[in-house]
Amino acid sequence: MSFLIDISDVCNVTDAEKSFQGSLSLKPIEMGDRQIDLPQAVAVAGTVRNVGNGILVSGEIDVKLWLECSRCLSKYDTDVAVRFKELFLFGDEQKETGRELLSVKGNMIDLGSVIEQLIASEIPFKPLCRSDCAGICAVCGRNKNKFPHDCQEGSIDIRMAKLKDYFKKSQEG
Ligand SMILES: [Zn+2]
Ligand SMILES: [Zn+2]
Repeated sequence: MSFLIDISDVCNVTDAEKSFQGSLSLKPIEMGDRQIDLPQAVAVAGTVRNVGNGILVSGEIDVKLWLECSRCLSKYDTDVAVRFKELFLFGDEQKETGRELLSVKGNMIDLGSVIEQLIASEIPFKPLCRSDCAGICAVCGRNKNKFPHDCQEGSIDIRMAKLKDYFKKSQEG
């Protein structure tokens, strides 16, 4: 997906600067076996500045992510703001950024792949709907956030069963 910024106003004058803003609708992001949905268009705003050998783009990406909690498996959305600063080089003065070569193409720069990679890097490896998510009860399988409860008796029964098993085995052995 491309996000083009017209830099014709600034590309011939060193230190010239202009602001930009826009939005970008992205497809769901594939992360291993997970698929992260973006329920809204991504908002992008910032400035482009001619720094002599290229165009320095800085700004902020605001995105809403639709995630699945790794503890209780419920879906939730979360707002993420990502600050960025990237240099797009003029002509052949391309730079290895570790992500890919960024360069000015004609009077345009394309921020699309930068935006996608920045968003992907913000997706938590183990998302949590809230930091103190109580998760799913290991005994009865109910969501402990929605049904705060204590299955202590159940877990004691399980422990007792294991203990009985143990004694049974040690008698047999
Ligand atoms: Zn949760
Ligand atoms: Zn339970």
